[in-house]
Amino acid sequence: MNRFSYVRAADVAEAAREAGSAAAKVIAGGTNLVDLLKYNVERPERLVDINRLPGLRDIEETAGGGLRIGALATNSQVAYDARVEQRYPLLSSTILAGATPQLRNSATTGGNLLQRTRCYYFYDVATPCNKREPGTGCPAVSGVNRIHAVLGASEHCIATHPSDMCVAMAALEAVVHVSGRGGERAIPFADFHRLPGDSPDRDTTLRLGEVVTAVELPPRGFADHYTYLKLRDRASYAFALVSVAVAMEMDGGRIGEARFALGGVAHKPWRARAAEAALVGQPATEATFLAAADAELAPARGWGGNDFKLPLARRVIARTLTELTLAELAQPNTGA
Ligand code: SF4
Repeated sequence: MNRFSYVRAADVAEAAREAGSAAAKVIAGGTNLVDLLKYNVERPERLVDINRLPGLRDIEETAGGGLRIGALATNSQVAYDARVEQRYPLLSSTILAGATPQLRNSATTGGNLLQRTRCYYFYDVATPCNKREPGTGCPAVSGVNRIHAVLGASEHCIATHPSDMCVAMAALEAVVHVSGRGGERAIPFADFHRLPGDSPDRDTTLRLGEVVTAVELPPRGFADHYTYLKLRDRASYAFALVSVAVAMEMDGGRIGEARFALGGVAHKPWRARAAEAALVGQPATEATFLAAADAELAPARGWGGNDFKLPLARRVIARTLTELTLAELAQPNTGA
C-alpha cells in the first residue's frame, strides 16, 4: 500500500472539491476500496472520507411518491427499511442476496454502485489489465474467464459488474443523483454504468470531482410480481455467475408489463430490453419465456471458460419467469 494523505469532508461541496483530482479517492464504507488499496490496484495520494457528510444516510419520501436513498445509507439499512421491504421488495431481495451481514452493515448505497469488477487479473498487479492500466492488454480474453461477460463486452475488456443491488435498480429504473463542481445532475440508471468499449478503465459516467449523493426510486415498485434469482458457485458470499431480476404486471394469464435485468453477464447491470419486448402481451408460457431469453441472448458470446453462461442464462431466465408466473399458469387459460 502506498502512503496517502487523508481528509474528512465536512460537506458535499468540500468532498467534490477534494475529489476533483485524479490522485484522490473517495471512501465511505470501504468494503471494496480497502481491498484495492491493499492489493496496490488503487494507489491514491489522497483519501477523501465522506462518512460524516450530513443528510446522506437518510431514506426519504419524494414529492412524486418515490423514495430517495442517501448515498451513505448502508446496504442493511436499505434492505430492512420497511418502505423498501413493502414497496420495493425486489430491491431488498437483491441486496440480501449479496455479500454477508457484516459487509452489508458497512457497505453504502453509493459504494455499491461504484464497486469495481472482481476480475482476477484486475486484482493481480503482476499481470497486464486494460482496466487497471489502459493499453496493457486484457489477459482474460484468452485466459481464465469463467466469471466474465457474455453481453456487451469488447476485446479490450470482458469484465462483469459484481453488484446484485444494481440489477434491481436497473429493472426499477432508478435515478442516480450526483453533485460536483459543475452543479448537480440526475443520471438515469441505465446511463450511469458504462460498457467497456476501448476505455474499460472508466466504469461509470461519473465525472472527475462528482460525488454520488443519492439514488431515487420511482413510485412504481412492482411489489406484487417480482423475483430475483442468483446462480453462483456456493449458496452464500459469492458473486453471481448469472442473476435475473424481474418485475412485472400481469394481465390475466398474459404479461402486461415486464422489467427485466441481468447480473453477472456484462460490464454493467444489463437491462434486458429485448426480453421485455418479447414478453409484453404474450401468454405466460414456457415457449414465451424461452423466446424472450433467446431474443436477449442473440448477441451474446462466450470466451471459452464462460461459454457455459449462454445455456445457463437461457435456463435461468425461463425458470425465473416460470416461478414468477406460476400462480397465473395454474389458472385455467380462457384465451381471453
Ligand atoms: Fe482487466 Fe477487464 Fe481484462 Fe479483467 S477483463 S483483465 S478487468 S481488461
